[in-house]
Amino acid sequence: VLETEGLVKAFGDRVVLDRLDLSVDRHEVVVLIGASGSGKSTLLRTINLLEPIDDGQILLGGEDISDPRVDADRVRARIGVVFQQFNLFPHLSVLDNVTIGARRVHRTPKAEAEATGRRLLERVGLADFAKAHPDRLSGGQQQRVAIVRAIATNPELLLLDEITSALDPQLVGEVLDLVAELKEQGSTILMTTHEMRFAEHAADRVVFLSGGRIAEQGPPAQVLRDPQHADTRAFLSRLT
Ligand code: ATP
Ligand code: MG
Repeated sequence: VLETEGLVKAFGDRVVLDRLDLSVDRHEVVVLIGASGSGKSTLLRTINLLEPIDDGQILLGGEDISDPRVDADRVRARIGVVFQQFNLFPHLSVLDNVTIGARRVHRTPKAEAEATGRRLLERVGLADFAKAHPDRLSGGQQQRVAIVRAIATNPELLLLDEITSALDPQLVGEVLDLVAELKEQGSTILMTTHEMRFAEHAADRVVFLSGGRIAEQGPPAQVLRDPQHADTRAFLSRLT
């Protein structure tokens, strides 16, 4: 579904992504790990065309979306994104938050978008909040709504950046359980998280970023339990 080839991204003199080659297959869940500042968020932002790149290519479904002639809005409509901070629209109801993408971007008729939205909210146990405003919900509920919004348009790829980092610890589980459920249903996910236990059971592949490159990648049991690269070992030992 996704391939970056020789992806380079620099901020001034600081090269954050250094000829990075990363691929994510259909139905695959890839967890990106790496030290703070290693470029995880930058990578997700370049894929969603929120940051211009300096070299290389990004292919989504075989199409070069890094080509400057590509319509960024059309590309973003194919990608679902959830960030750390709850980015629901505070002035819209939960249901309107969930349906706005389908209605505005995909021109789905209101009744159809709302039927889909209600079905998805039902599935995550938030149907009773459809008419509420986001500030009535807990952080965990808000992130679940943000996830529902991201999947409401059936994106080819989901990008999740530290979606539980701002949550109280007791709310982390309900959000990650939803991600695990999406995986079971076949979503293709590229995500960052500090929750290594989640990575261990839900990831198909763990990718360790260091120095703007992939230092090491493989099945979670291998990368997390038996890291080969000194930087991976140092990173993991700091976590515990
Ligand atoms: P964290 O684990 O803390 O979220 P990260 O791996 O997501 O870290 P990034 O946020 O991608 O790291 O940042 C990578 C590097 O790029 C950092 O050195 C950061 O300071 C720099 N950087 C990111 N965004 C910008 C920007 N808009 N302008 C300048 N430098 C930036
Ligand atoms: Mg980050």
